[in-house]
Amino acid sequence: MLKEQTAIVTGGSRGIGRAICLELAQKGADIALVYAGNTQAAEETAAACRALGVKAQCYQCDVADFEAVKETVGKIKADFGGVQILVNNAGVTRDGLLAAMKQADFDAVIDTNLKGAFHFIRHVTPLMMRARYGRIVNISSVSGIMGNAGQTNYSASKAGLIGLTKATARELAGRNVTCNAVAPGFIATDMTKALVEKNSEAIVGSIPLGRVGNPEDVAKAVSFLAGPDSTYITGEVLRVDGGMAM
Ligand code: NAP
Repeated sequence: MLKEQTAIVTGGSRGIGRAICLELAQKGADIALVYAGNTQAAEETAAACRALGVKAQCYQCDVADFEAVKETVGKIKADFGGVQILVNNAGVTRDGLLAAMKQADFDAVIDTNLKGAFHFIRHVTPLMMRARYGRIVNISSVSGIMGNAGQTNYSASKAGLIGLTKATARELAGRNVTCNAVAPGFIATDMTKALVEKNSEAIVGSIPLGRVGNPEDVAKAVSFLAGPDSTYITGEVLRVDGGMAM
């Protein structure tokens, strides 16, 4: 169903991004996997994609670096031909209370989570506009919808992604490029491991469906928005949170 399409997945080495790579590969998409530094995890995920019969290649690139992203998109275009799907998933946390939040921690989170998505959209959309086809999915968070104490930087970055998604959706709709966001709740990955282990009861208690999510729960929503069953959906924010933020 996604055969002969190429998907860029940022932060594809681990966690939610890994599950997105595998889900899209399962549907037949070739995968350009972007990661920060964990080459072993990236190569392992790419190998798992190739085992599903698609082409998969890894690109080490800091999404926060505008010029590095430009260069990486150029390499991906040369290696794959075109790009039909872009999933902006790379993200970090630098949690801390507002009163003690360091400027560097605020900037690092905005630079990676929000500007990183802008950088990829900026460099990939000329290809999509020319082809008059594209599917962009940005990974936001319930923190960007509800706000979360101790995460002013992260919540701001994830709320910003929702604005970026809607403005991009309006600008590119005329070129048949859709742009949507997925807002996960608590998902079991490296990012949340310590928090979930420490506060398991309180966290599960705040989720109507009574469980923490799996990376695959998010990947299925992303693959829907990246595929042929969502052609009339753009500018949407799809929560995948077990009902947490309703
Ligand atoms: P994770 O397990 O910590 O993985 C983060 C991924 O992002 C890794 O692949 C990492 O690459 C990559 N990355 C980080 N900084 C990067 C940079 N500057 N340039 C390129 N790649 C970078 O995180 P996750 O839990 O899967 O989260 C994935 C996304 O979902 C994030 O945007 C996160 O904010 C969002 N989210 C997660 C949850 C949750 O509960 N887990 C909830 C809501 C939203 P390396 O492996 O090379 O380090």
